[in-house]
Amino acid sequence: MCPKCGSTRRRFFRETETSRLTVYRCLRCEGIYNLYSATLFEKKHLRPSQVVLLLRGVAKGESAMRLAEELGVIPNPVVHFWYE
Ligand SMILES: [Zn+2]
Repeated sequence: MCPKCGSTRRRFFRETETSRLTVYRCLRCEGIYNLYSATLFEKKHLRPSQVVLLLRGVAKGESAMRLAEELGVIPNPVVHFWYE
């Protein structure tokens, strides 16, 4: 499931080089995600707006941990994958 828009329509995008995680591209919003981030999203029941904010912050180079604290979530192991 796409963490951004919630769509389950996706296609294979690539595999991360270090962790061998399968990365998917969402067919609806064109977002890229892996199963790990999608699973965390489902378990934490983050609102899509929270996830977008988090991903946008990471993309801009802000501290993911600081953003996570602001959002009230601690996706500790996931931060690593988002930087790959
Ligand atoms: Zn999507």
